[in-house]
Amino acid sequence: MAITTIRKVPTSAPAVCLTFDDGPHSIYTPLALEALQRYNSHATWFVLGKQAQSRLNLLTDIYLGGNDIGVHSYDHIRLTGLSRSQIASQLGRTKALIQEATGQFWPYFRPTDGAFNQTVLEVADSLGFEWNVLWSVDPRDYEASTAQIISRVLAGVQPGAIIILHEVTAPTTRALPVILEEISKRGYQAVTFSELLKLAEEI
Ligand SMILES: [Zn+2]
Repeated sequence: MAITTIRKVPTSAPAVCLTFDDGPHSIYTPLALEALQRYNSHATWFVLGKQAQSRLNLLTDIYLGGNDIGVHSYDHIRLTGLSRSQIASQLGRTKALIQEATGQFWPYFRPTDGAFNQTVLEVADSLGFEWNVLWSVDPRDYEASTAQIISRVLAGVQPGAIIILHEVTAPTTRALPVILEEISKRGYQAVTFSELLKLAEEI
């Protein structure tokens, strides 16, 4: 199996990876990109094909901002209940949209709800994916206030942390600049998953 499941990157470098699931979103993605640019930071998106399909320009903008784009799924369906061909369709169609918009393939995916099994990994492997990217910090931003998101994320800032956020609510967007500012005050950098991997000391 060429796929590695990862929740946190083993490093002592002061760097974390912010990830945005369930987008791209017409309002929240541009706001996130603006905040990232303002703080000289980068992030990694795990996009839904159904969201990306009519918003390929946002995928291009994410890429041009120096960020990574991995696959979440097409319909936000749980992959563990699907046949091999259905899993391949969920991952493959979304991968194709990312390639269409950016000309790039980042070999990362994050299964819906973090749910995967051996079949999911085998199908992802056959499509060229190398990393099943989960997370070490989950502020449950989709049901939290801006203040809760800020405090939960900052409580989890440590070397190599992978932080899951979602592009579905305004509080996350409002929390982002505060989080980026505090991360930088602590001497940390918010980097993409590929940048974080380069800082890995052992995997
Ligand atoms: Zn999701």
